[in-house]
Amino acid sequence: MSATRSAADHLPARLSLKSLREAAADCRGCDLYLHATQTVFGQGPRRAQVVMVGEMPGDQEDLQGRPFVGPAGRLLDDAIAAAGLARQDVYVTNAVKHFRWTPRGKRRLHKTPSARHVEACKPWLQAEMLVVEPRIVVCLGATAAQTLIGKQFRITQQRGEFLVTAWAQWTLATHHPSAVLRAPQHEDRARMRRELIDDLRLVAQKLPDFAAKKNSKEPAAPARPQRTAAPARPSR
Ligand code: SF4
Repeated sequence: MSATRSAADHLPARLSLKSLREAAADCRGCDLYLHATQTVFGQGPRRAQVVMVGEMPGDQEDLQGRPFVGPAGRLLDDAIAAAGLARQDVYVTNAVKHFRWTPRGKRRLHKTPSARHVEACKPWLQAEMLVVEPRIVVCLGATAAQTLIGKQFRITQQRGEFLVTAWAQWTLATHHPSAVLRAPQHEDRARMRRELIDDLRLVAQKLPDFAAKKNSKEPAAPARPQRTAAPARPSR
């Protein structure tokens, strides 16, 4: 892969979720498109208050062309509901839009994307954030957290903390649902699932709709605040 190639070469002139999704379908910004079925772009409402970012599509996502539709996606949907978040408040996407895998017999096993893949794909993520303008970004797992927060970030130490970043008013990182499923011990899976729900509950509590629903006699939700900073339009 050439060091200069990236998704920035494929960005449309006008940014909308539709134009981005169409342009990303033909992205050749790194070599991952060569062995994947299709680009798996983000999905959710244009006005979502929360953007959740995973690492990259898995086997089922690659085949179906939609993010978080496999077992990890079902766990995430359950956690979103258990936390009291409305699915229509959430846009889901990945740091890398093509599936990277290695063969094991007839199976395709997940292979962590390299730093170059993450960097090459970042313009799509930046563009999605510029269009959706979420109030809160949730990083699911270490790859997303280190992409959006910084290389020094450690899920084990800073999970569930609200941080100020250039991506949104609040950024929080928690477990990736695949990591919950992969934990070898039942007790670990149960604990991580609880922690994922607890973290998403903190996110729900930050949303004005949540406060309004909790106390319907209170005045209506406050206006959407200004972002602390915005990611620049990705340069070509
Ligand atoms: S992984 Fe990202 S940068 Fe690489 S080809 Fe796919 S969409 Fe483009």
